Amino acid sequence: MNGCLFCRISRGELPAKKALETDTLLAFHDIVPQAPLHLLIIPKHHIDSLNDLTGQEGPLMGDIITTAAKLADQFGVRKSGYRLVANCGKDGGQAVSHLHFHLLGGRSLGWPPG
Ligand code: 5GP
Ligand code: ZN
Repeated sequence: MNGCLFCRISRGELPAKKALETDTLLAFHDIVPQAPLHLLIIPKHHIDSLNDLTGQEGPLMGDIITTAAKLADQFGVRKSGYRLVANCGKDGGQAVSHLHFHLLGGRSLGWPPG
């Protein structure tokens, strides 16, 4: 989508500190990190939110989850623990309408979220 912030990052039109990139997904550091490790993992093509997933994206969602576990290992939080979360809609706290998964780690994360 033309004006979408994360589509623009995925096309390289806006800068981001990339952690990993494949043909179909991109992981980059959050601009306002909420933990020592805070990555965003996105599908490169535009999907608004979890609500818009179809059966077609199943393999890609699997890739995103296994990539998150690999990145957790790479960034040293595999053993200490981490969280993978996708906010959806207003009550879920979703601010950017391009599906993204937060990978957070490096400190003890509170639960339940506020
Ligand atoms: P949401 O609240 O939609 O789940 O999360 C959006 C996330 O995107 C926030 O954690 C926010 O800090 C991050 N973010 C917003 N704009 C940018 C940007 O331009 N670059 C990067 N790297 N992260 C961004
Ligand atoms: Zn987008």
